[in-house]
Amino acid sequence: MDHPKSRTLFLHAQTLMPGGVNSPVRAYRAVNRIPPFILRAKGCRIYDVDGHSYIDYVGSWGPMIVGHAHPQVVNALKRAVNHGTSYGAPTPLEVRLAEVLVRAVPSMAMVRLVSSGTEAVMSAIRLARAATKRDLIVKYDGGYHGHADSLLVKAGSGAATFGLPDSPGVPADLAKQTLTAPYNDLEATRRLIEARPGAVAAVIVEPIAGNMGVVPPEPGFLQGLRALTAEHGALLIFDEVITGFRASYGGAQSLYGITPDLTCLGKIIGGGLPVGAYGGRRDLMEQIAPSGPVYQAGTLSGNPLAVSAGLATLKLLAKPQVYETLEAKGAMLSAGLADAAKAAGVSVQINRVGSVLTVFFTSTPVRDYATAKTSDTAHFARFFSSMLDAGVYLPPSQYEAWFLSLAHTEREIQRTINAARAAFASLTP
Ligand SMILES: *Cc1c(COP(=O)(O)O)cnc(C)c1O
Repeated sequence: MDHPKSRTLFLHAQTLMPGGVNSPVRAYRAVNRIPPFILRAKGCRIYDVDGHSYIDYVGSWGPMIVGHAHPQVVNALKRAVNHGTSYGAPTPLEVRLAEVLVRAVPSMAMVRLVSSGTEAVMSAIRLARAATKRDLIVKYDGGYHGHADSLLVKAGSGAATFGLPDSPGVPADLAKQTLTAPYNDLEATRRLIEARPGAVAAVIVEPIAGNMGVVPPEPGFLQGLRALTAEHGALLIFDEVITGFRASYGGAQSLYGITPDLTCLGKIIGGGLPVGAYGGRRDLMEQIAPSGPVYQAGTLSGNPLAVSAGLATLKLLAKPQVYETLEAKGAMLSAGLADAAKAAGVSVQINRVGSVLTVFFTSTPVRDYATAKTSDTAHFARFFSSMLDAGVYLPPSQYEAWFLSLAHTEREIQRTINAARAAFASLTP
């Protein structure tokens, strides 16, 4: 498959933007390819500048759960754009979105809209620190919560050590305020908190990890975190930027029946436009300015275009059977992939919850970042490349989730499985 126009664009882009991209994974460094430059998308397909079409399993990294350019979303945007694109003032649409979110997400009594997942998480952390008058936060190795300073931290050696900055530019003093534990390890979390009585403001967790590849919570992990944080006066923050309206309409907290203190949303709630949100207990949210002293603001927050795309998307998700349908599509894809890998004699672990999954190229069950890291990333890169050439657009890294949408039909899923059969087979001598 030739990509002359993408190649030319990528070379030019690299002279203008760091790495030629506006977000790092898009540069395809982990898979040694030129990223196709995308012109348009419709349903479950995306189309590049060189005339190729692909079955898309990136879905803009999660938002496109109803498929690209869904007519109802497009129409909502067209209606909205005629009325101007931003007012910097209250508008009825944002009240509607807030109402939909508060009704859908069990733990959210109040919500504040922002413009990205990063902003939602950053603000929720600030609120947690203000409300508890404590500074430390606990996150999980391999958990991604956007690129705010406090959260760009992974483990040092051992769960009990203070974090080291994952990125230059994060002040060491700030990184020290972030402690990390292995995902699914309740006891390690307990040790971190008990070693610092009265000092941990919050535990932040992806209730289904999605950014080390998909890693489901083991039975008891989230329940344990709920009890542990409550016992120590720390807040529990669910980062549902991926799982909100994905794992179920009410997110992972509805699926597993856990009530966090604060929840962060993003991705799907903007329907492909920039929206994030954080919300939770009323007594906490009332501490946000202007009802309280914790400052947080945004020029484009509640933007009418973004909010109307989000509302149209959530309306499509509120229909009966949507999550059963997504589950069935996910089950068909993962069963087909497992079969294809087995036929080719390639060891993989397929982790899936509903419509998100990751194929890990390892024989070790993946339950945290350390086990995810046992994957053979060279095998992943070759598999990825064969799939791309066969017209299947996967996330270009082993440590990412594949996203299915309502627009993926059985026919496309079967084509994907057929392509995988050949791609797995090409890995074995
Ligand atoms: C994508 C993501 C974020 C960051 O959202 P942005 O909109 O990219 O800033 C935060 N948390 C999780 C779990 C995510 O997947």
